[in-house]
Amino acid sequence: MRLTELTLAEARKRLRGREFSAAELTEAHLEAIAALNPRLNAYITVTEELAKSQAEAADQALARGDAGPLAGIPLAIKDLFCTEGVRTTAGSRILAPFVPPYESTVTAQLKRDGAVFLGKANLDEFAMGSSNMTSAFGPVENPWKRKGAEAAKLVPGGSSGGSAAAVAAQLALGATGTDTGGSIRQPAAFCGIAGIKPTYGRCSRWGIVAFASSLDQAGPFARTVEDCAILLRSMAGHDPKDSTSADRPVPDYEAACRRSIKGLKIGIPREYRAPGMPAEIEELWERGMAWLKDAGADAQEVSLPHTKYGLATYYIVAPAEASSNLARYDGVRFGMRVESDDLLELYERTRAQGFGPEVKRRILIGTYVLSAGYYEAYYLRAQKVRALILRDFTEAFSRVDVLLTPTAPSAAFEQGAKMDDPVQMYLNDIFTVPASMAGLPAISVPAGLDAQGLPLGLQLIGRPFDEETVFAVAAALERAAGFTHLPQIRAGV
Ligand code: GLN
Repeated sequence: MRLTELTLAEARKRLRGREFSAAELTEAHLEAIAALNPRLNAYITVTEELAKSQAEAADQALARGDAGPLAGIPLAIKDLFCTEGVRTTAGSRILAPFVPPYESTVTAQLKRDGAVFLGKANLDEFAMGSSNMTSAFGPVENPWKRKGAEAAKLVPGGSSGGSAAAVAAQLALGATGTDTGGSIRQPAAFCGIAGIKPTYGRCSRWGIVAFASSLDQAGPFARTVEDCAILLRSMAGHDPKDSTSADRPVPDYEAACRRSIKGLKIGIPREYRAPGMPAEIEELWERGMAWLKDAGADAQEVSLPHTKYGLATYYIVAPAEASSNLARYDGVRFGMRVESDDLLELYERTRAQGFGPEVKRRILIGTYVLSAGYYEAYYLRAQKVRALILRDFTEAFSRVDVLLTPTAPSAAFEQGAKMDDPVQMYLNDIFTVPASMAGLPAISVPAGLDAQGLPLGLQLIGRPFDEETVFAVAAALERAAGFTHLPQIRAGV
């Protein structure tokens, strides 16, 4: 078996058994990246020197016997996490020259635990998108191919498209992502891997380039649920530098993956039967329910009546917060500058040339909904509906332990599709946005292939800070689904 094919858990075990070194594991991944990244464009920056020195340090720690839980594990880091001394672009021209003098809390914790950073993964500009098409560094190709249409290039989903493609194509054992409205779960589903957005507040947002601060959450991608659990334990935890970070102990998520789900109640939200949803996604959802019943859980229909407003309110709240967060890119403090003798003109030219069309669209929407005269009609109203969306979930979780839904309303689509219709693009997140609005933990598990041979995911949504139940049910779903399919483009093929 090639080293790049291993699960993270397996690699960890074999590193400890000294069957191979961290240096060898890292080298195997760097070679795979050299071979495939020119095609997939999953990494914006490859940090070869950093990776090699981290691997060497991991080997020394393993030899001494004081290695951290992730010693020698090669990861891709979404290029939205600030990494000290390593360029951090957020997928934007405006940050193309930005080298942070500090490290995000999440990546600092991964380093503390011994991880190896292979590089910075591509993403939609400022994490705005569902296809990775808005990156200033070019699109990412999904390593999966549609049956009989191998020439067509598909999107990996977004915004964490580079992270998901890198893990699926075996160019990393795991990756970090961020999810504001679906950016971990939807690309995980499109690329046939697992990805979890934990509860809002579980992972520190400090040092992550902000998109919509009341929604942004970091989380892991990996090829198995257990591997996600291992990564999340290192990423999560209280951070005094983020006032919304939760001061709660971080449980052993890996152990939670082995829990029985007997007697757990699984809710099926009636409103997620979206009109026009492909029959094969509906069928997979039903199969998922049957698998969980076979594992001893009970099913029950629940109602989330305000779910239908999820997308509309998200596209008020998220742009509003984005317009405020992105005001800091003025050509003076961060990244690129287009010079002018006049300060106002310097701001205008820098922002006009630095931001891409989707980011400009969000800034315009956000500024509009926050403007005097419209604030009450849009922003304030959206916040009220957001409270109702949360109330629906609270009500449902008084009767069930976890909710099962599809992750996305379609499989991966072609690069360039939906680009001239932003609303069509936004509809990708119809099933993921409600959990984001309510701050709830939610995972996507690869569960099957569609008729064209493309992966489909199922989503599990849990109670606040109950990632353990989410992991337990996800692991049961994964065992039952037995998804062992591999993408056509991957290391060594
Ligand atoms: N696709 C959604 C958006 O464009 C979600 C993005 C995300 O979760 N970062 O806003």
